[in-house]
Parts: sequence; structure tokens; C-alpha cells
Amino acid sequence: MDKLAAYAVSSDNSRGRLIQEEPPIGRSEFQRDRDRIIHSTAFRRLEYKTQVFVNHEGDLFRTRLTHSLEVAQIGRSMARNLCLNEDLVEAIALAHDLGHTPFGHAGQDALNDCMKDYGGFEHNLQSLRVVDVLEERYAAFDGLNLCYETREGILKHVAKKNIQKLGELGERFLQRTQPSLEAQLANFSDEIAYNNHDVDDGLRSGLITLDQLEAVSIFSRHLTQIKNKYPVLPERRMVYETVRSIINTLATDLIQQSTLNIRNADVNSLAAIHLAPPLIGFSPQIKKEQQELKKFLYDNLYRHFRVVRMSNKARHTIERLFTAFSADIKLLPVKYQKKFEQEGRQAIADYIAGMTDRYAIKEYQRLFTIAED
Ligand code: MG
Repeated sequence: MDKLAAYAVSSDNSRGRLIQEEPPIGRSEFQRDRDRIIHSTAFRRLEYKTQVFVNHEGDLFRTRLTHSLEVAQIGRSMARNLCLNEDLVEAIALAHDLGHTPFGHAGQDALNDCMKDYGGFEHNLQSLRVVDVLEERYAAFDGLNLCYETREGILKHVAKKNIQKLGELGERFLQRTQPSLEAQLANFSDEIAYNNHDVDDGLRSGLITLDQLEAVSIFSRHLTQIKNKYPVLPERRMVYETVRSIINTLATDLIQQSTLNIRNADVNSLAAIHLAPPLIGFSPQIKKEQQELKKFLYDNLYRHFRVVRMSNKARHTIERLFTAFSADIKLLPVKYQKKFEQEGRQAIADYIAGMTDRYAIKEYQRLFTIAED
């Protein structure tokens, strides 16, 4: 790796793992974290979980897995430019969505409602739960025993009522201090990735059109540049070129503005980063344009009647599964019946959250369709 900045996270200034282990040989602590995440069961399940489109709606749409890979790619490239810890950004990016339910945000909202009397359900917290507790692969510990800084990056938000359970990881939410720049960067990489791939998938699906997008300033500006440079280009290639150049503009802007912020804040250590205001960010103009694009996607794609219909089915599926399991825990696989005895409804939430889209659909049929076994 290129030389790290003094304020970057490194194996030397890391707060380490909950359970101490021998240092890795031939790779850094954060490469080891990344490797553990890639080998986890939850990571493989991301292939069959919804980003915006449900898995069976088409083979070419992003899934949570390809989304996470794009977040990692964008994050690593920016980290390298900012002399931050690329391996840590990659680990956070690959793990950031591990706790997502099937069916994307509709699934998360439904499960959160089902769990409202039992502490609620938050996908960020669930991602942490996956890497801290739910993965069962190692002899010496539950979970993946990741470094503090990887866990800190995964826990982007948490509801106030759940802070107390988190120990030292929750402190920053009480003290209102900032996570590492690597965590901040992974967060922005997520935003850059989904805004752009949702434009791409939205156009591919036909739910949004190029005409509509021409009203969005960042898109129309880049589209005009591409049209001027390549006057005769098939539409699909034009879209790719436009999205590609938007990602490039956003990444470049983020690097420049963050470099400026870091310089102005005069920070020289990781400790100083925690106490400084958030230092990773876009310039004011790009920030405004990003918000405009987000609003466009919300109004025209995420609230498109076909997406809303699918979300409604997803909600119904999650609610019925949860209600049935709650009414009779004997419907749960034996492993979760045992967990239920110790953890109550949390065990049902863990079971449902771990499902892929197609597993949830199958489980629904097994429970409610007489011809299924
Ligand atoms: Mg994400």
C-alpha cells in the first residue's frame, strides 16, 4: 500500500479485536478483516438480496452483492488518493449491507414495524450483529472478531434507544465524535454507487427515461458533454458513458474537497479526526446536485408504482412470516426455536433478516400453500 497519512487508520493505531489473536502473516489486520467478510455466509447471501429490484425481476440489475462490490471499488480508489487505509475502506464497504433483510428497504421497514415492541430492527445494527455474533465459522469465537475500526465503520447509524447496548462502539454517538475518515469515505462511496447504479438500472428497466433525467442538472450536464464528444452513439453506450463520467466527477470532487477540509482542519492524528467535524464531503455545488438527483430517484424510481407494488408484496410477505412464527414458534427451524428460548423475537428477526429474497418467497409458500412441503 502507498504511504498512509498520519491521520489514517493503521494496524499500529487500531484499537484491535474484542478477542486478541496472533497478528496475521503476510497481510494487514484490515486485509484479514476483508478476507473474513468475503468468506462469510452473509456475504454470499447478498447475491440474492434486493437492492431496488427484486432478484427475479431481471438478471442484469444490481443486487446487494454487486452494489457492495461497486462501493468497495469506488471507496478503494478514493482512499488511495487520500492516503487513507484502502483495506479498511474495502472491508467496511463489503460488510456495510450484510444485515439487510430480503426485499431491500421495504423488507427492513416491515421487519422494523414487526419488531417495534421488541427493540425494533435496524439494518446497520444487524450488519454489526452479523459480524459480531451471527456468523458461526470460527472455533474460538462467535462472529468474525473484526477490528474495532471495521465495526465502527459498519455501524453508520444507530437509534438512540440501542446505543447503551453497544459499549465503546456506541460512545461516539453519545459524545457526537466522528468515526475514522475511512468510515466516512465508505459512507460516501455507498452514496456515489447507489445514485449512479440506480440511474442505470432505472433506465434499463424502463421505469425512468432519458427525457426525465435531462431535467436533472448533473445528469444533463454530463450527457451534453458525451453527446458533443460522440454525436452518434447508441443510447445504451451513451448512458454508460454518462454514468461513468458522473462517477468520475463525484469521486474527483470528493477527493479535492476532502483534501481541502483536512488541510483546513489541520489534523495530524487519528485522535484529531474523531474530534474534528466530518472532513470527507463534496463541494457545495456537487452536494446540491447530488441532493437533486436523490430527490429525482426518490420521486420517480423508488416511488414508481411498479416498485411500490413490489414493495407492498414484500412487506406483506415479511409481516405474515413474522406473525406466523410469533404465533407458533414450532414453525421455526429447530435451531431458531432454541434461540427463541433465549432471545425471544430477536431470534425470529435474525432468521427473517438472514433470508435471501427467493428463500423468503419459498418459505412463504411452504408456510401458506398447502401443496408445498
Ligand atoms: Mg449500501
